Amino acid sequence: MHAQALTGEQHAATIGAAKTERPTPRIERLRIRSLTKRFGELAALRDFDLDVLGGEFISLLGPSGCGKTTALNCLAGLLEPDGGEIELDGTSVMRTPPERRRFGMVFQNYALFPHLTVGRNVAFGLEMQSLPKARIRDRVDQVLGLVRLRDQRDKYPAQLSGGQQQRIAIARAIVTEPRLMLMDEPLSNLDAKLRLEMRTEIRRIHQALGLTTIYVTHDQEEALSLSDRIVLMRHGLIQQVGTPREVYMEPASAYAANFLGSRNLLSVRVTKAADDLHVETRSGIALSGTPRGPLAPGDEAIASIRPEDVTLLALGEDGANTLPGVVETVEFLGRGTELSVRSGLDEGIIARTDDVWSQGDAVALQLPPERLLVFPAEDPGEIV
Ligand code: ATP
Repeated sequence: MHAQALTGEQHAATIGAAKTERPTPRIERLRIRSLTKRFGELAALRDFDLDVLGGEFISLLGPSGCGKTTALNCLAGLLEPDGGEIELDGTSVMRTPPERRRFGMVFQNYALFPHLTVGRNVAFGLEMQSLPKARIRDRVDQVLGLVRLRDQRDKYPAQLSGGQQQRIAIARAIVTEPRLMLMDEPLSNLDAKLRLEMRTEIRRIHQALGLTTIYVTHDQEEALSLSDRIVLMRHGLIQQVGTPREVYMEPASAYAANFLGSRNLLSVRVTKAADDLHVETRSGIALSGTPRGPLAPGDEAIASIRPEDVTLLALGEDGANTLPGVVETVEFLGRGTELSVRSGLDEGIIARTDDVWSQGDAVALQLPPERLLVFPAEDPGEIV
C-alpha cells in the first residue's frame, strides 16, 4: 500500500506502532523474596523483596554502603545469600552457579581482557559456548554495530577511551543474549559529558533489545532519567519503590526527599495537626506545611522543601511562610542560580532561581505551604 493511500489516522497508527515496537523480553518475571545477606555482625541486605517485569529498567539507588552491590551480587550468584529466594519465571536460580544463570554483568571498572582485541573480548562468551566460527563472527559484528564500535574491532582496550571501553563491556554482556542485565555503577569512571551520552546509549540498547535491567547507582539524576522504577535503599533495607515521578513527587520519608534533591531539612515540632498542619522551628518560627505521614501536636518532625520550590521576593512582600532574609552565597549554574539565604530559620535555605540576586541582597524568603513537606522525625544527621 502506498503511504498516500493511508488515511491520516492509519498513517499515525503505523508510525506509532513502529515507534513503540520493542522485542519481546526474554523473561516474564523476576521474583525476589526476603533476600538477606550478613557480613559478620553487619546486615548488608535485609528482607529484600522485589518483583520485576520482563522489559523493565530498575535502578537500585542509595548512598555508599546501603547494600546495592550486595543485592546485585546475590542476584548474579557472586555472593551466597544467607536466606531468601530468587525466581525467574517461576524457577529458583538459588542453586544455579553464576555462569549458568545466563545473566549479563557490567561493572564500573569495565573488567575487559587487556590482551584481547575488542572483537575477541566481545566474542569470548560465545567462544566459551563453542558456537560455530561464522555464527560468532556475525553475532559480534551485529553487537559491535549496536554499540557503534564496529570500526574499533581490531584495537586493544588500552587504545580506546573510557566511554568506548564501557561500550565494549556492554557489548560483551549483551552478546550472549542474557536473560537479565545487571549493571553496577557502569558510568562512575566517566567524565560528566560522557556520562550523559552513555546514559542515553544504555537506555537505547535496553529498549532496542527488550532487555530486563537492574542498575546500581548512587546518582539520583541517573536513576530518575533511566529507570522505569526506582528502588531506594538505606542500611540494607528498601525504603521506597516507585516510578521516578512517584519517588520524586511523593517521597515516602525525609530520607527519600533528601536523597531525591530536597536539600533543605528543618527540625520542627508539630503545633497543629490535620490538613491545616502547623509547625514551629527550633528558633520559634511558625510555618504551615503539608503532612507526609502520621503527625500529632507535640511530635518532632522534619520539614523539607526543594531549592526550586523556594520563592524569593522583594523585601516587604507578604504571604504565608514568608520571612525576611539576606542572600549569603550565590552560585551561578548556567541554567539558573543557586542561593543560600539566611533568615530567622535555624539553617540557611538553598533556593534555585532564574532571577538575578547578589550577595547581601535583602529578600523575602517564601516557603509555599503546599511545597513544604513535613515528615515524622528521623535524625537529620543520619539523613544527610
Ligand atoms: P557502594 O556504592 O559504596 O559500593 P553499596 O550500596 O553497593 O555501596 P555494598 O557494597 O552492598 O554497598 O555494601 C553494604 C555493606 O556491606 C557496607 O557496609 C559494606 O562495607 C559491607 N560489605 C560489603 N561487602 C563486604 C564484604 N565482603 N565483607 C564485609 N563487609 C562487606
